[in-house]
Amino acid sequence: MKTIGVIGGMSWESTVSYYQLLNKAVNQAKGGFHSAKLILNSVDFAEIEQLQRSGEWDKTAAILCEAAQSLERAGADFILIATNTMHIVASQVEEAVNVPLIHIADATGTQLVKQGITKVGLLGTAFTMEQAFYKQRLTDKFGIEVIVPNGVQRKLVHDIIYDELCKGQISSRSRNDYQSIIEELSENGAQGVILGCTEIGLLVKQEDTNVPLFDTTKLHVEAAVHEALR
Ligand code: GLU
Repeated sequence: MKTIGVIGGMSWESTVSYYQLLNKAVNQAKGGFHSAKLILNSVDFAEIEQLQRSGEWDKTAAILCEAAQSLERAGADFILIATNTMHIVASQVEEAVNVPLIHIADATGTQLVKQGITKVGLLGTAFTMEQAFYKQRLTDKFGIEVIVPNGVQRKLVHDIIYDELCKGQISSRSRNDYQSIIEELSENGAQGVILGCTEIGLLVKQEDTNVPLFDTTKLHVEAAVHEALR
């Protein structure tokens, strides 16, 4: 079994999900007492969040590159960045190490194609919904059209992530807000909706809506475990 290197802490609330899901998936595949071989480098999210807000992405890249290099030195066979947003600097991280990176949008795009999805809604931070790094990759590599909520809804989705989910707060009002935004994306032609932020799965689950959901945390974990056991 390969050793998975995880850059976590963004936020740690979703890194907990990664840790549980990685171990459960390995155990399900191998049985007995088997669990995932993994190394976690968990950063201080306050530093990252501040740099995100001031748009200093090169400084975030330096932090993540150093984390990735330490994982490589410690014996990781490949790397996960356990957040969608920070894939803004995925190419810098990829260049900083000699081991592969499993890109979260590729894990997601692969599953969308398998399910025959050609038009999808995307929920995530404003960075993920508004910048090209994620949507463009899905379109260019997988031929998928990506739609996002309107401006007011995007702000709401973003604020709930940072003000509540990254702090471990789960509220039914916010779940209702997400449910109606998901419904509207579906009415606008989305055949499914990407939970494109690793904390959203803590708030909204498939049983909360009839619209097919693509939880990036789960899909990233599935791709990682597939690679680890390959
Ligand atoms: N975990 C979130 C994501 O998947 C947001 C926190 C962050 O900015 O990294 O995008």
